[in-house]
Amino acid sequence: MITLHDKVFEPFILEDEILDRIGTIGTSLSAEYAGKNPLFIAVLNGSFMVASDLMKSMSIPCEISFVKVSSYHGTSSTGRVDELIGLNTDIKARHIILLEDIVDTGVTVDKVVKLLSVAEPASVKTCTLLFKPDAFKGKKSPDYIGFTVPELFVVGYGLDYDELGRNLRDIYKLKED
Ligand code: 5GP
Repeated sequence: MITLHDKVFEPFILEDEILDRIGTIGTSLSAEYAGKNPLFIAVLNGSFMVASDLMKSMSIPCEISFVKVSSYHGTSSTGRVDELIGLNTDIKARHIILLEDIVDTGVTVDKVVKLLSVAEPASVKTCTLLFKPDAFKGKKSPDYIGFTVPELFVVGYGLDYDELGRNLRDIYKLKED
């Protein structure tokens, strides 16, 4: 068990299992995207570890770019405006694999897909290490899912609790009292 800030977490998905599953996904993606030079777009901060291990499991030429999603108040009456920061590659006519650490309600992934679609990519598929189907409110589940998890708060392997825990090799879940 580990403590981060004021909370206690217990082991949930171990590194070996994570790497094994990512290896399987890498094999599938390598087959599906052979000859297409896919561009991974990983959403920071949480996805840096899965991005690293997934890239290592790809056996075909592929590229990666990292983005952040920011939301700011526009000057018009439209309310909040979403913006993708850091995408400096032209994605027109490219095959995009959007990579997330975790899809919860699906709001983030939805936003990013919408923002990317404006630039006319050839295709966009989504891949997430963790998926919480019970919290999901989107229309379409991610195309590639590492693990389906219940509505628990998890940390480790890139995921944080108030910035701590990203360095952990395993995934931990919040310990219930
Ligand atoms: P969504 O937009 O799908 O509701 O959630 C997106 C973001 O919420 C994720 O990228 C992640 O930052 C955060 N999140 C959702 N569930 C968890 C969780 O169990 N643990 C951590 N560390 N972050 C989570």
